[in-house]
Amino acid sequence: HIVPSITLNNGVAMPQLGFGVWQVPDAGATAAVSEALEVGYRSIDTAEIYENERGTGRALASSGIAREDLFVTTKLWNTAKQAWDRDAVLRAFDASLERLGLDYVDLYLIHWPRALRDDYVTIWRVFGEIAQSGRARAVGVSNFKPQNLERLIEEAGLTPAVNQIELHPYFQQAELRAFDQRHGIATESWSPLGQGKDVLADETIGAIAAAHGVTPAQAVIRWHLQLGNIVIPKSVTPARIKENFDVFDFELSPEEMAAIAGLETGKRLGPDPDDFD
Ligand code: NAD
Repeated sequence: HIVPSITLNNGVAMPQLGFGVWQVPDAGATAAVSEALEVGYRSIDTAEIYENERGTGRALASSGIAREDLFVTTKLWNTAKQAWDRDAVLRAFDASLERLGLDYVDLYLIHWPRALRDDYVTIWRVFGEIAQSGRARAVGVSNFKPQNLERLIEEAGLTPAVNQIELHPYFQQAELRAFDQRHGIATESWSPLGQGKDVLADETIGAIAAAHGVTPAQAVIRWHLQLGNIVIPKSVTPARIKENFDVFDFELSPEEMAAIAGLETGKRLGPDPDDFD
């Protein structure tokens, strides 16, 4: 398989399909990530808060895959009671690198804006320094809305490369995707399968999948790819890890894309970033 890549706004190429490891315990992360690398995934999405950076790093190290062929994302968990300062951000970043066993990551994200603390612009300026130093090849954000993104662009003068947001057929984020696109920000879908629940049991998706002789998960991943999103499905089951990667030999028609567009419910699975602190 050849996974297409998305060229980020600083010229760095990011695989459009990657592997997410939220809720995978550290001990199991090594096996899951090793399986994914074996299948052909090269992009891995972890985070400080997932507490599996060490297990992920062990899989990367033992894979024998050249570092430049991997694309590793991790995220800053900015939870301190007080607003964050430069030192706190740099310490958290160093600790993530240490746990991953890497001397750089490909993408470093602010996990949530936590707008109530009003420190994400400060944090973002430090992310700019980290990018300058080469210890992150690209920097971006997660769960940011237009008003948050605008402040980064206007006050810090640096546009995020990526905005990783909840996005699946029941919560499609049409407006935020359009905003990202207008500003040269790549949109990355989290919980792309709707966490494996109602979305995968949806009748419309089931019919589309059946028409192509694929599974609902494959049809949904294909939908993300055709929308131009970066997509990072998660599984710890080897057969599903493989299945979720096997999405490059069929194509959804414009009618099928439109039918999925009609499934929007306006309901999130995760928290609203405005309230999440
Ligand atoms: P997902 O939408 O990828 O769903 C994963 C679940 O779907 C699995 O646990 C399994 O139950 C089921 N599943 C997977 N493949 C399947 C298949 N082929 N057939 C049937 N069922 C299948 O959910 P997710 O893990 O929430 O999201 C993916 C990744 O996004 C995470 O691992 C993480 O890396 C990232 N994420 C980021 C944030 C954020 O705030 N930035 C939040 C949530 C998730």
